Amino acid sequence: MSALIYLDYAATTPVDPRVAEVMSRHLTLDGNFANPASRSHMLGWQAEQAVESARRQVADLMSADPREIVWTSGATEANNLALIGFMRANRERGRHLVTSVIEHKAVVDTATALEAEGFEVTWLTPGADGRVTPAQLREAMRPDTLLVSLMAVNNELGCIHDLAALAEVAHAGGAKLHVDAAQAVGRLDLDVGRLGIDMMSLSGHKAYGPKGIGALYVRRSPDIRLEALIHGGGHERGMRSGTLPTHQIVGMGEAFALASAEGEADQARILTLRNRLLDGLSDLDGIHRNTHVDVAVPNIVNLAFEGVDGESLLMALRSIALSTGSACNSASVEPSYVLKSIGVPRALALASLRFSFGRFTTEADIDAALEALHHALPGLRR
Ligand SMILES: *Cc1c(COP(=O)(O)O)cnc(C)c1O
Repeated sequence: MSALIYLDYAATTPVDPRVAEVMSRHLTLDGNFANPASRSHMLGWQAEQAVESARRQVADLMSADPREIVWTSGATEANNLALIGFMRANRERGRHLVTSVIEHKAVVDTATALEAEGFEVTWLTPGADGRVTPAQLREAMRPDTLLVSLMAVNNELGCIHDLAALAEVAHAGGAKLHVDAAQAVGRLDLDVGRLGIDMMSLSGHKAYGPKGIGALYVRRSPDIRLEALIHGGGHERGMRSGTLPTHQIVGMGEAFALASAEGEADQARILTLRNRLLDGLSDLDGIHRNTHVDVAVPNIVNLAFEGVDGESLLMALRSIALSTGSACNSASVEPSYVLKSIGVPRALALASLRFSFGRFTTEADIDAALEALHHALPGLRR
């Protein structure tokens, strides 16, 4: 049986074997399995040490203080905590939130829930390149704007926001900047001090760590307070209760340490793979780039295939794992809301595929995808 070729790294990445090895040492009786909150014995302290060392690995990636990292179950929960927690804690000062229509559902649906609670949301529509400009943000700012939430890298297009410039506008207007950076770890420099980021959502499984773990970076500052969403033992300085999953946490820590050490080299290699794909398709007509590659990470490229239906194309490319639209909406046949909002016509949006690459993608994978596309397209267009 020929193995499926995996070109869906933006949906999730496989766990790096080096990460899996560290995780496996934090589960069983002969490992570091204890409850990190157990204060009465040595095993609890050892588990706590492992958690704190992982917290430093995550903080180091963004040049933050480890005390600024709050563990969550993933970027979805981190986005909920940042938006709901911050808006509720500051409701006496204002009620306005600014975000964009191409955020991940974990931000879009959270902001919508806040609207139902009486907060007001301004929804910015990005340009054709998928980016909100600092001028657009300046226009949207109000005296009662508390928070701006914009993603670092869009999960469907790969486009990169100019976070430093957006932070400047948010701060000039007296607001804080939250960034969903789930797709940016190991892909971009995420130095929170240099960029002016106040809160940042992170996920383990988009960066070769395990699923079910993430974190929220929260700048240590008297004017950044969050109301907790999950109440219990008062873990994570009261911001997020629940027994810390040591094995998940050390996995995310190791994954982030690897991203710090190897991310740049990974991306340089992946750029040559993306160019190999685009060059290899240049002899075919009617392929449109939904991704503006000059302002995007190299590991995501979204292409529209004129004259074919995306689902049929996906069927014809059964040997390759990839997404139409984003994986999160793959249950419905509606065109992706992200492609719609950057002005991609409905028929082209429905005929779009997202190719996403990663650490374990090879030239042979790209060549196999090229061969499958050359084989499938003429038949589908006939
Ligand atoms: C995957 C993803 C999320 C959700 O992260 P989980 O850790 O799976 O909850 C949020 N935002 C973006 C941009 C993502 O790509």
